[in-house]
Amino acid sequence: MTTRYANILKPLHLGFTTIKNRVVMGSMHTGLEDRFYNYPKLAAYFGERAKGGVGLIITGGISPNRQGWLLPAGGTMNNLADVAPHRLVTHAVHKHGAKILMQILHSGRYGYQPFVVSASPIKSPISPFKPRQMSEKQILETIEDYAHTASIAKKAGYDGVEVMGSEGYLLNQFLSRHVNQRTDRWGGDIENRMRFAIEIVKAIREKVGEKFIICFRLSMLDLVHDGNTMQEVITVAQALEKSGVTLLNTGIGWHEARIPTIVTSVPRAAFADYTAEVKKHVAIPVIASNRINMPETAEEILAAGKADMVQMARPLLADAFWVSKTATNRVDEINTCIACNQACLDHTFKNKRATCLVNPRAAYETELVYVKTKAPKKIAVVGGGVAGMSAATVAASRGHKVTLFEASHEVGGQFNLAKVVPGKEEFHETIRYFKVQIERTGVELRLNTRVNREQLEREGFDEVVVATGVIPRALKIAGSQAPQVLSYAEVLRGAAVGNRVAVIGAGGIGFDVSEFLLKPEHQPQPQPLADWQREWGIDPNPNYISEGGLQAAEVAHPVREIYLLQRKTTPLGIGLGKTTGWVHRAQLKKHAVKMLRGVQYQSITDEGLWIKTNGYDQLLRVDTVVVCAGQESVKEIMPTEDEFTLANYHIIGGAKLAAELDAKRAIREGAELAAKL
Ligand code: NAP
Ligand code: SF4
Repeated sequence: MTTRYANILKPLHLGFTTIKNRVVMGSMHTGLEDRFYNYPKLAAYFGERAKGGVGLIITGGISPNRQGWLLPAGGTMNNLADVAPHRLVTHAVHKHGAKILMQILHSGRYGYQPFVVSASPIKSPISPFKPRQMSEKQILETIEDYAHTASIAKKAGYDGVEVMGSEGYLLNQFLSRHVNQRTDRWGGDIENRMRFAIEIVKAIREKVGEKFIICFRLSMLDLVHDGNTMQEVITVAQALEKSGVTLLNTGIGWHEARIPTIVTSVPRAAFADYTAEVKKHVAIPVIASNRINMPETAEEILAAGKADMVQMARPLLADAFWVSKTATNRVDEINTCIACNQACLDHTFKNKRATCLVNPRAAYETELVYVKTKAPKKIAVVGGGVAGMSAATVAASRGHKVTLFEASHEVGGQFNLAKVVPGKEEFHETIRYFKVQIERTGVELRLNTRVNREQLEREGFDEVVVATGVIPRALKIAGSQAPQVLSYAEVLRGAAVGNRVAVIGAGGIGFDVSEFLLKPEHQPQPQPLADWQREWGIDPNPNYISEGGLQAAEVAHPVREIYLLQRKTTPLGIGLGKTTGWVHRAQLKKHAVKMLRGVQYQSITDEGLWIKTNGYDQLLRVDTVVVCAGQESVKEIMPTEDEFTLANYHIIGGAKLAAELDAKRAIREGAELAAKL
């Protein structure tokens, strides 16, 4: 079969072994690796991705000793007893011809536990624990621990290890002046700062021999003050190559950096040029990373010679069959990662098992199973938002005869609103994915059809899934019927908005709408890379001489004056996702949005919005009031308990519960219900 993606599918020969294509599933902590009884689930998770065609997999981080734990009693490998569970994983992957590396991660001062150590005793802004400075003896012991862990990984059947040297973890802490302020042979100039990483690689190579992959994940852009320059990055890369590294992987930004590196508003392939710069100076294969989620982007990077492989972690959670769909020209069937972090990284930071918003089977492969039905039923799904589409397509894929009713002219529901928010363009992909699934699975789609219960009963459905979603909650104060009062849905659908605006309600949608109103109407979407770099203060020169690649940010003048208001007295936006909320808060702050809390709404008049704060009446002179005060469920079609119906009725998503409505719950509820029908 001819393919547009020849570079992605080309094997990579490493001399002693061959990786069958150029796709690396990057390391992502799922939470399953920390407990041995979860290894069968971990094996199923990786096995499915290997079956889906990925060439190389890198596990979540496993610590070489207890000082390196990310969390108390985190996954560690320093004992032969650790071999057996890991063999389940390596076997599951090798069965499908993929290779797998175990990542060795010492968290250093990012550990969320009391044994933390680092280059210097400097606390990180994202952990409450102050690290102890490592002594010479501890450094030498840790080098041994890395080598020992790698040798056990080899016994467990891994094809190699990845040494985590980026994202601000221990080795990155030694590599950069940001944390390394030592004056001994492990600190000072770059030759000394890199000594620890280099000695680790040499010790591993000596222990495991030549025919074992050592991949090193190197921070190519620290994005923190006192971070390395590109020249220093290249010096380290060349020394790593000389010490025996087989593959050089890209890390971008420390976790504490205040510049987004993976969220959905980061342009696709935003950092590939920094990898390309390093690649010019080494002969070993180099892997590009961050915001590569679709084959076009991956192919472009490889075809331009910017990297030898492309790494994707979240996109392979979203779709285990990303590679095989690419190889068989079924790219429109890919369930695209929308870089929302809501079910993966936000879960990890809450110590919950990582999964995926658009693919609830990720890391639940043995629990959420779609079995072909032996007794096909006639199923109606009412509502074509993500909950309804998830239920309809899973049920149809199992062999049921499914009809999907949608009152409007298009499917997508709330995602049709989200996709117009600047930086949320990826939401288009989810709608495209479901549309293709609807066709592929044979769901009968009836658009512009507001169905009622009588009609459903008449058509003789066995099961009815009510996924009728939500409507925006209206404001109930004097003047709220005035024409200058708009719902968020009206605004996102293009209603005219004045220059001075009050946004009522500071949940995810209040933030989204504020960002939408800050930008000029006809700004190109997605945001061009150069504009985005300017706005966040990233040095666009791949051969940057600025420390950590930082430069002064330049923020365009906002096109509107905006107040964002809430009744609660807590800081605005604290309920947003852990890994994304800070980006939204920073955006609004930079654009001078005035955030008020503890507000009581009084009335809306021709002069503006009257509020009360701290006991005082205040007039906000605004032209438009946008209401983002949550939603209410739409569920008239759902029978009450004592009503007799021929079909069985089920309710999911926002129709079931509007509070804390979110797409993650909606898609999962749809899939879980359909798996059981
Ligand atoms: P939300 O998070 O529930 O926020 C609505 C806000 O409106 C509340 O925080 C509440 O704050 C205020 N409110 C509620 N009733 C009100 C009333 N009667 N009058 C005035 N204010 C009222 O809902 P949302 O913003 O609509 O978002 C819905 C869901 O979408 C969220 O749960 C989230 O998961 C998801 N989402 C997330 C993001 C993101 O993470 N970036 C973006 C978009 C959507 P006060 O009571 O304090 O005023
Ligand atoms: Fe991607 Fe969101 Fe899924 Fe994470 S939860 S893998 S960011 S789509």
